[in-house]
Amino acid sequence: MYVIIAILLAGFVLFFCSYEIRLGAYVRCLCRNRAAGRVVALTFDDGPHPVQTPRVLDLLRDRGVRATFFLVGSKAEQHPGLVRRIVAEGHDIGIHTWAHGAGFPMQGSEAMAADILRCRALLKAMTGEETCLFRPPFGVTNPMVARAVKRTRSRCVGWSIRSLDTLLHRSREAVARRIRRRLGDGKVILLHDDRPGAERLLAMVLDDLRRCGYGTATVGELFKNEKR
Ligand SMILES: [Zn+2]
Repeated sequence: MYVIIAILLAGFVLFFCSYEIRLGAYVRCLCRNRAAGRVVALTFDDGPHPVQTPRVLDLLRDRGVRATFFLVGSKAEQHPGLVRRIVAEGHDIGIHTWAHGAGFPMQGSEAMAADILRCRALLKAMTGEETCLFRPPFGVTNPMVARAVKRTRSRCVGWSIRSLDTLLHRSREAVARRIRRRLGDGKVILLHDDRPGAERLLAMVLDDLRRCGYGTATVGELFKNEKR
C-alpha cells in the first residue's frame, strides 16, 4: 500500500516538475538574472502572425524597445519578411519548435533535436543568424527535452512572469496588472504576439515599466554573462 502511494506521489511530483519550467528540474532554463538590476526581458511566443506581429513591432520600434521572439518554424516559413524585419529591428529570435504540437513533449530526444535543428536552419537561411535560444512549447520540460537541448547545444529559456495573456476571459487590464505586481530585477516576461490586441497590452506593459523605472533587454543581453 505504502509503495503504491509513494509511486503515485513520485509520479505527481515528476509531472508537476515538467510543467514548472522555473524549477529547472530536468534542464537548466534561463528564467531570471537578478544581477541585471532594474531590467526585464519581454519575450513573445507563437508568432510570427501576419496581422498582430507587425503591430507589436511598430510599437516596439516607436518606443525604442528591443525584445525576444520565440518563433514557430512553420509560421516563420510562411512569413519570411516578418522574420527578417524582427531581426533587422534589433530583436533576438529563438526557436519554439516547428509546429508547436501538443505531442512535442512526448517525442524522443532525437526527434526533438531534429525539430530544433530544422527551425535553426530555416531561421539562419532567412536571416543569416544562427540562434541557440530555445523555448519548449507550453514550458514543458522532461528528460527528453533536456537531452535534445544538450544535443543541439541550445540554451533553454523559460520565464519568471507568466502573463496568462492567452486566457480568453482575462481582460488586458487584468493581465497588465498581474505583470506589474510581479515585476522584479532581471525577470523574463512571457507574452504572445499572435493574440488579438497584443499591441494594446504591450502599450500598457511598457507604460508600467516606465512608471516603475524598469529598462528592457533582449534575452541575449540579459543573460550574456551566464555560463552555458
Ligand atoms: Zn507557445
